[in-house]
Amino acid sequence: MKKKIASSIGLSAIDEEAVDERSLSTKPSKTGRLRSFSSIFFNPLQSRDSSSVFKADELFLFFLPAGGFAGNTGHDPHVLYTLSAVQILALFDKLDILDVGKVSSYVAGLQNEDGSFSGDMWGEVDTRFSYIAICCLSILKCLDKINVVKAVDYIVSCKNLDGGFGCTPGAESHAGQIFCCVGALAITGSLHHVDKDLLGWWLCERQVKSGGLNGRPEKLPDVCYSWWVLSSLIMIDRVHWIDKAKLVKFILDCQDLENGGISDRPDDAVDIFHTYFGVAGLSLLEYPGVKAIDPAYALPVDVINRILLTK
Ligand SMILES: [Zn+2]
Repeated sequence: MKKKIASSIGLSAIDEEAVDERSLSTKPSKTGRLRSFSSIFFNPLQSRDSSSVFKADELFLFFLPAGGFAGNTGHDPHVLYTLSAVQILALFDKLDILDVGKVSSYVAGLQNEDGSFSGDMWGEVDTRFSYIAICCLSILKCLDKINVVKAVDYIVSCKNLDGGFGCTPGAESHAGQIFCCVGALAITGSLHHVDKDLLGWWLCERQVKSGGLNGRPEKLPDVCYSWWVLSSLIMIDRVHWIDKAKLVKFILDCQDLENGGISDRPDDAVDIFHTYFGVAGLSLLEYPGVKAIDPAYALPVDVINRILLTK
């Protein structure tokens, strides 16, 4: 089974088949401990009682002079890990230890002339990075540092005839990219650009006989799409178009009942990536005992309210 990245929202692993070993970031540190970024990952839906184990100093090992965070010590900063860092600090109510001006300038500096965003200094462009930049700057209350109109226009240029969105203009619709584009449009108050019935139909067709959701036509169902597809359906008010009870059963069938954790499909090995998205999916399905999660920010609703409802 392939290894998976587990960033706080997992955007680095939308195309899990494309993830290479270089991205896994688990080389030993000078102290001999494995200090990957994901090693300080905490499930946003768990109780905040765990804040006692949060060590902000460890997070800042990844903070680089450019203002962004890297996936590991000695790596280049990237907008993806920068959002993960901001989300983790937001979860633990520690955004005050961040140099907001520096971090937001790093993220805003990645916007290109056409409104798109690069992931880092090397220039790869993808609608994932548009979402990441917009989500990050929204949490930091610095959206005014970018050209939001151009950012929205670029995302809209990636809309396809099937109602979905791709990574660049003309690229195939993919549930992960749809989450990114719909999420960015939701955060910027631009959901009127989405053809909700057309996109809702494409998204609800992702549910297969087992109840699980896939990311594209003819693909196998996978627990992580419980997040990408469901969150998008909720943001466009079409979640009632799928069989929610069957999806709950599919997610629960992917649990390792002896050792804990959730896998991509029943009887596969569990990993933290799919455990997060399984729990997040159950939250979106209003499963009893799980905190509510915000479908656009992928953070608990109480955390988002604390941030956005205060100055
Ligand atoms: Zn998956």
